[in-house]
Amino acid sequence: MNIATETRILIEAALAGDPDLASLAVAGSSPETLSVRVAPGVPAKSIGGSSYSPEPPFCRETLAELVVRMQHLRWQRAAPLTPLAMPPEDRDMRALHEKHLRATVGFECGPGWADLFDAVFSWLHEIAADHDWSPSQIKEKYGTLRLYWYGDLPPLGAEIIEAAEHISSHLCEVCGAPGRLQSQHGWWTTRCRDHES
Ligand SMILES: [Zn+2]
Repeated sequence: MNIATETRILIEAALAGDPDLASLAVAGSSPETLSVRVAPGVPAKSIGGSSYSPEPPFCRETLAELVVRMQHLRWQRAAPLTPLAMPPEDRDMRALHEKHLRATVGFECGPGWADLFDAVFSWLHEIAADHDWSPSQIKEKYGTLRLYWYGDLPPLGAEIIEAAEHISSHLCEVCGAPGRLQSQHGWWTTRCRDHES
């Protein structure tokens, strides 16, 4: 698995069912050279196993960029190994509190989403450093991420958070590899094949 393949798998899973997914182009062989292009706009109502009404609260290009930012961090963190050999751990989650001023609440979920959080907080800092906002709770619920927040964020900020919640349903909560949402005895989790229960 290289960075482009993993990135393509993630975006294809998150946007499955969207007709404009056909426009997706992924290139590059390292975090530095990874590039993704996709037709801009709001995706179809039903994508990646989720149905939105009236429509998804994020644009296709926002989701793609968030995945690219996450993949940069994920593959840089693991270098020179691959993220599959060097998955994020609890200490990577704890480090987010040091790295990001707004990461003020605990992460009530597994470490597999650490790089996703890193990307979300980094991007939000770029676009909203001077906005008065704060997360109120960050947790796993029914197998996917919920990031509750209050205060003032620009529209793109809210979009990034919604996109992150959507991406989480395709990201193993244990190791951050591409995964799928599944239920066993009424218990929902998002897991890769290695971490399926
Ligand atoms: Zn996994």
